[in-house]
Amino acid sequence: MQKHGSSNSSNWKLRFIKDPPAVMLILFAVLSLSVFTGIYDKQTSFPEYVGKDLNEEEMAEVIERNSPLTSYVHLSPNADFPRDSAIQKITIHHMGANLTLERLGESFSKRDRGASSNYGIDVDGNIALYVEEADRAWTSSSPENDNMAVTIEVANESTGGDWPVSDSSFESLIELCTDICLRNGIDELVYTGDADGNLTIHKMFSQNTDCPGPYLESRMEEIAEMVNENIKNHGERSYTPAGN
Ligand SMILES: [Zn+2]
Repeated sequence: MQKHGSSNSSNWKLRFIKDPPAVMLILFAVLSLSVFTGIYDKQTSFPEYVGKDLNEEEMAEVIERNSPLTSYVHLSPNADFPRDSAIQKITIHHMGANLTLERLGESFSKRDRGASSNYGIDVDGNIALYVEEADRAWTSSSPENDNMAVTIEVANESTGGDWPVSDSSFESLIELCTDICLRNGIDELVYTGDADGNLTIHKMFSQNTDCPGPYLESRMEEIAEMVNENIKNHGERSYTPAGN
């Protein structure tokens, strides 16, 4: 079968080369397809840089509109461009795994996964941006929440148990939350244990998840306190917002 198939294909190639009209026809078809795809692309168009591998310069340009703490950018198509509410909340998630920032970006780049977050933090405390703050990420099983929230995925130091995160990740989480609050005019983070507060967690919006896991959940009040302390200290030093 194999042999028969390959001799068939070389016959076909031979005929193809000998037949200029066929070559023209195929070229024409490829050309029309690319024009058609171009039009299609425009109709379902994403903002520039979404779904693309960015060079350092392009990443820097995107970071300028978002948290300066970001060191890696891979923009996900799984988002609404732009979000439909002003930023007034932060929602914490865990990865449910210990993924690198690149690996999480890859996962969020899959359209059929239908998931994303604004930011991700790896086990060493490095911060990635996947959905710009101006846009709504698909993270918390609640469009209403995600339209108002900046969402953050934190890597787990180990999987299972109480799903801990590393001290480095935790420190970066505090820094990132502080920065988000300061640039977006959030004066205080309030954790109420339900969706009424402006510091929320994934499991408040879905019965099908324990995200962000017992470890982070047990530290939510502490996160709010630490961020609020930082906000106060910045205020005393008359912080100038870097972004909007
Ligand atoms: Zn989650």
